[in-house]
Amino acid sequence: MATAAAPERCVFCEIVAGRLPASFVYTGDDVVAFLDIRPLTRGHLLVIPRVHADRLETLDPQLGARVFIVAQRLAVAVRRSGFCAGTNLFLADGVLAGQEVFHVHLHVIPRTQRDGFGLRAKRWDQPDRDELDGTAGLIRAATGTLPQ
Ligand code: AMP
Repeated sequence: MATAAAPERCVFCEIVAGRLPASFVYTGDDVVAFLDIRPLTRGHLLVIPRVHADRLETLDPQLGARVFIVAQRLAVAVRRSGFCAGTNLFLADGVLAGQEVFHVHLHVIPRTQRDGFGLRAKRWDQPDRDELDGTAGLIRAATGTLPQ
């Protein structure tokens, strides 16, 4: 699958190229991970593909799998390093989802008691089975339009 061309100046491409500083925790052939410059909690890190992809739709699925594998490994490492009791993985895809840097990245957010991090959400009204099935059908139909 093609990846989107990098925009004029993508901050994460600059980090990958070594033109901007970063505190790396992992450097692989296809994926790197470094500490977030404005961490939500201590040890908050970002896992990114080296190759630019602005959003999930333009990210090679194999590379997406690699990003997750590295994030899984680092989440375990962060817990073993002893300064957190859990982790959240988070990915913002699109402006409405809160994406600010348009180079796909998976956040690994270490969690400790009363760290102040949380997702704020108001649950929708309880849908009935027909509504759930209707929504599932729409998603299945759209999935069928994607390449295998
Ligand atoms: P998102 O809202 O999911 O797009 O998150 C983008 C994240 O990138 C934010 O948590 C920023 O603090 C982080 N970030 C932006 N620039 C840098 C940088 N130069 N080095 C490390 N993290 C950065």
